[in-house]
Amino acid sequence: MCGGSDAGVSGVIFPRRRQVAMDDETARLEMVELQIKGRGISSPRLLAALRQVPRHEFVPAHLQGLAYDDGPLPIDCGQTISQPYIVAIMTDLLNLTGEETVLEIGTGSGYQAAVLSCLAGQVYSIERHEVLAATARRTLAALGYHNVQVHAADGCFGWPVAAPYDGILVTAAAPRPPQPLLEQLAVDGRLILPVGGRGGQFLERWIRCDEKNFEREILFPVTFVPLRGKYGWAENEWEPAH
Ligand code: SAH
Repeated sequence: MCGGSDAGVSGVIFPRRRQVAMDDETARLEMVELQIKGRGISSPRLLAALRQVPRHEFVPAHLQGLAYDDGPLPIDCGQTISQPYIVAIMTDLLNLTGEETVLEIGTGSGYQAAVLSCLAGQVYSIERHEVLAATARRTLAALGYHNVQVHAADGCFGWPVAAPYDGILVTAAAPRPPQPLLEQLAVDGRLILPVGGRGGQFLERWIRCDEKNFEREILFPVTFVPLRGKYGWAENEWEPAH
């Protein structure tokens, strides 16, 4: 069971269906050219990963024709798979070189985790909905992404046994950075997360300078579903504005 839904609260845009049917690989290469490279992302390793990961395998069957369109899509449990450009830019902000240990909070479909697995040494991803965690685990294994571990848990606590992390990505909007995630960041490690509520969120990057100090950058406005759990939003704090 999904246990509650955040549907309708994430500003999901339903892109128009492509007029001419394209095969998945052609559509994926075009997505990378127009939506990712075309918007200024140039890291060759990241572009190669995005050309490789079959996003259509991570979306519900009836939406596969929209998998390479320029927007988020609904997945099970009232959640969303993020817009490809958002996945790209959040990943880019981690500056991965190949050996890092990375933590993702909010596995959702598993697509972001697959992209990370191409660029880092080991990826841990935490999802609070068991149904989503199980589906993502199956998809990732079937596609051969073996350096990803998906756990069903409240990601607000991080995943202490594998800490410290060189990078932490949170793919749901938090009221503020959960303290355990800051604590589990390695020195020089980066935490990328959307901060804010229904009314407005900004993507932030926190870099751990030393044991005690962090540098915080506020980057640009974004729209994510809420982070739930211990340091997330309660249901009644994420209500529609009247
Ligand atoms: N990264 C995903 C997008 C996920 S949407 C992808 O590539 O598809 C955000 C996800 O965060 C949702 O699946 C939601 O269930 C999950 N989430 C929200 N609060 C959470 C928490 N406290 N711990 C773990 N996952 C959480």
